[in-house]
Amino acid sequence: MTRHAVRRFMAALAVANPEPRTELHYRDPYTLLVAVVLSAQATDVSVNRATAGLFTCAATPSAMVALGEAAVAQHIRHIGLWRDKARNVIALSERLLAEHQGIVPRDRTALEALPGVGRKTANVVLNVAFGEPTLAVDTHIFRVANRTGMAVGSSVLAVERGLMQVIPSKYLLHAHHWLILHGRYVCKARKPECERCVGRRWCEYPGKE
Ligand code: SF4
Repeated sequence: MTRHAVRRFMAALAVANPEPRTELHYRDPYTLLVAVVLSAQATDVSVNRATAGLFTCAATPSAMVALGEAAVAQHIRHIGLWRDKARNVIALSERLLAEHQGIVPRDRTALEALPGVGRKTANVVLNVAFGEPTLAVDTHIFRVANRTGMAVGSSVLAVERGLMQVIPSKYLLHAHHWLILHGRYVCKARKPECERCVGRRWCEYPGKE
């Protein structure tokens, strides 16, 4: 897809949803970080159900450590990989207290050093909590980027770099949410709903209807 076409596509997404928001429920950078860690291989709806109770009991690193791994596990037991995630939530909370005064760092390297936090989670936290123009490539963004021809690549990192190069800077802050929501609700994996797609004109997918 040409840069001009990417610009037009992003402009159309911007008009359709000027202020896109994450569908994860959170109160501050810490609760966002926990919610994103819990969201790996789980739906936002299931994470929100779990964090509704969890954050009522513990919404700070010290409260989470005091709550303990077993109780965290009880709150999140209906989402995938809950045992590992409970361990990571406690470990990252301990690390935040020990090394960052209990504050979520606005720094990629420091974020990625936290237990259970990879590049994707760091990108989401930097974007949503701190307003940095980062792009966290999940399964939806990976599919949309490749399918449309916006950024073709066989790895998540290649697609992230490709998108960062072609998306105009004025759209980068919200591009993450526009593309996720577009993939989740319109450009779906099995059957994209091309007839109601705002980017249909510029999409290069051969199978578009
Ligand atoms: S036209 Fe169809 S395949 Fe292309 S982005 Fe839109 S929904 Fe996806």
